[in-house]
Amino acid sequence: MSSAIDRIKGQFLVRRILQGILKTGRLATAYLFAGPEHTGKKFAGFQFGKAINCERGGCEECQTCIQIEKGIHPDVRLITLEPDKKEISIELMRDVQKEAFLKPCLARFKVYIIEEAHTLSEEASNSLLKILEEPPEHTIFILTTSSPQGIFPTVASRCQKVRFVGTTTEDSEDLAKRENEILQFMGPEGIESFRNLRDMAGSRNDSIKIIDAFLIWYRDVLLLKEGAADGIFLKQMRENLQECANKYCAEFLIQMLKRILDARYQLANYVNPVLVMESLLVDLNHLKAQGI
Ligand SMILES: [Zn+2]
Repeated sequence: MSSAIDRIKGQFLVRRILQGILKTGRLATAYLFAGPEHTGKKFAGFQFGKAINCERGGCEECQTCIQIEKGIHPDVRLITLEPDKKEISIELMRDVQKEAFLKPCLARFKVYIIEEAHTLSEEASNSLLKILEEPPEHTIFILTTSSPQGIFPTVASRCQKVRFVGTTTEDSEDLAKRENEILQFMGPEGIESFRNLRDMAGSRNDSIKIIDAFLIWYRDVLLLKEGAADGIFLKQMRENLQECANKYCAEFLIQMLKRILDARYQLANYVNPVLVMESLLVDLNHLKAQGI
């Protein structure tokens, strides 16, 4: 288990996805960390940089981890908007383009964290696209953004997406208060029955509450599946959660969670809530039919 990844707080699914990547060792050339502001996307980028470069998977103690933490590791570089500029300039990306093809100085991988990548200028985006079309083997790009629709689609399509959620869905104090509210959305068998959800999806806010209930439900199921029962929030539903955990494998639950997060993003981007919920329910039922 990577200490560096464990330090990414409030983002259970992100941690799980990144740990999954480390476990398989199948790295993509580019990742897009998308989510609201102040959800720790840049921090997560550095932590992932440690995890893939540290010999102990992100120990937080070795020279590599310490240098990355301090921002002085020669192979892990932050690309960000310069002060008083509105765009990340082509000049900056030209530097990156030259460097990216050189071998790393010390580490296994060169890592470029491009902060708020929707601020890349058109030329800079094209320059990045060129790199991603024929990527150097030893270089990884992590783009972060709070405005994913502002990223060039051709760039976004070459990135593996990792969704960050606003902290409200994971803040434990907030959740404890909301447990009863969440339970109201569920039938006696838990959210698995999808009871009345379609009818309740009238307003955007109600839809977001329902989607958060889904997220919490499947998050808890995944925790039980992995033997971390202490961390579950819906303690009153423990038996139902366990029943659900017995039915599905962890990979399948992660697929469900990813699909639910997509729906949450659609809602945040003002897609019609009834459409979002309907297509979510269809997809979840479809996944369930395939996945057991
Ligand atoms: Zn280390």
